[in-house]
Amino acid sequence: MDDARSSPEIGLGLQAFTRPPGAPVLPRIARGDGIWLIDTDGNHYLDASSGPVASNLGHGHPRILAAMEAQARQAVFAYPSQFESAANLEFAERLGRLAGPGLDRAFIVSGGSEAVESAIKFARQHAVIAGQASRWKVIGRQPGYHGNTLGALAVSGDEHAHEIFGAMMRAVPRVPAPLSYRLPPNHTVESHARACAAALEEAILREGPETVLAFIMEPVGGLATGALVAPASYYEAVRQICTRHGVKLIFDEVMSGAGRTGRFLAADHWPAARPDIAVVAKGLSAGYAPLGAMLASAEMVRMVAEAGGFMHGFTYNAHVMGCAIGAAVLREVEEADLIGNAARMGALLRQRLEALAMRNPLVGDIRGLGLLLALELVSDQHSRAMIPLQKVAPARVQQIAMRHGLALYCRRTSRGAYGDWLMLSPPLIITADEVDILAGRLGAVLDEYAAELRL
Ligand code: PLP
Repeated sequence: MDDARSSPEIGLGLQAFTRPPGAPVLPRIARGDGIWLIDTDGNHYLDASSGPVASNLGHGHPRILAAMEAQARQAVFAYPSQFESAANLEFAERLGRLAGPGLDRAFIVSGGSEAVESAIKFARQHAVIAGQASRWKVIGRQPGYHGNTLGALAVSGDEHAHEIFGAMMRAVPRVPAPLSYRLPPNHTVESHARACAAALEEAILREGPETVLAFIMEPVGGLATGALVAPASYYEAVRQICTRHGVKLIFDEVMSGAGRTGRFLAADHWPAARPDIAVVAKGLSAGYAPLGAMLASAEMVRMVAEAGGFMHGFTYNAHVMGCAIGAAVLREVEEADLIGNAARMGALLRQRLEALAMRNPLVGDIRGLGLLLALELVSDQHSRAMIPLQKVAPARVQQIAMRHGLALYCRRTSRGAYGDWLMLSPPLIITADEVDILAGRLGAVLDEYAAELRL
């Protein structure tokens, strides 16, 4: 918990790849208990973001552990083209029922990027079967994030990654995501959202609609945008534009799905903008297993199946242990009304953050839906000026937060071009008292950072 310690060398394992030499030493995890993570020195950290917005059920959940143990005693892995499994059937049934009509068939993979790859390839194969082989372009948004495999990265609006890996990917068009806080001059939130929807239609017409396969977007943004939510009219306009030009609408719900926004899918907030395909991961297994899924309609799946089946797959498709965990997580989400709790606790946390904004000058915007919230940091609330880049805003806040026993998920994205924010997305099991602890600690962290910046 001491900021001054730093790693003497690059280290071992994943850390050797992901952290620069001299980065502060991280606490070593010993165990988890509900919304708490406990290190080997006995320090407790409130998990304010569910790790990278994944641990929806918190840590050490007894029912999930019991389901894991029971499944482990039966079968952990059986290849799905050789064996059917009860775990797969239960998981797919629960997922299909919760996702609802039009998204009730699941292709089950090991995480978000794999699910996005699957969605893009599924849309493409479906188009070829439907006699539309000229359609291959997937339009994405800037900023936006869909994963780190090359296909998912190609459709992500991440300029820095494109500078390095762009040469290896086929360039696809990107359109602006409707921002809600730092608006272009002379725009309201509504007019900017209208302009962004219009930019999508212009891009489709410019590219030639017969070449455009799909449009992919996060219905509620993640780390790349800081929980960006658009006005309802944007989702409806995007749906109409896609329908008008025969373009499939893909919602990336890797972060926003599985109940986090107060509905099972964020798409459920805008019934008039139902996507053709949705992608879920993270909270789907609540971090108890690597798991993701691509969801599509029975009709699309039937067409592909009748033409010989989806030309795509992984060793760990519908992994038996992963499916058993996914089924147990979804059972718990329903039985403990965690979707309702996400809506209630999200409203309470937002209130607490708004109170914090009244007294701490660093709090600019608070946005999001349910328990997928973000707090944007500013150096001046009135002008909305960003914190200067050299002040390493999210990284420094994260460091201070660890000292206050608060584990935060934040990182400067797009080199800070759009601003800096902290994801506030605790496990969906959080109680009102725990929301108060979270807000109290966050207040102390931001007070300390404001004093450091002399604000
Ligand atoms: N899509 C979104 C919206 C995400 O937030 C993420 C991960 O943060 C991904 C896709 C990629 O998921 P994964 O890291 O599980 O591959």
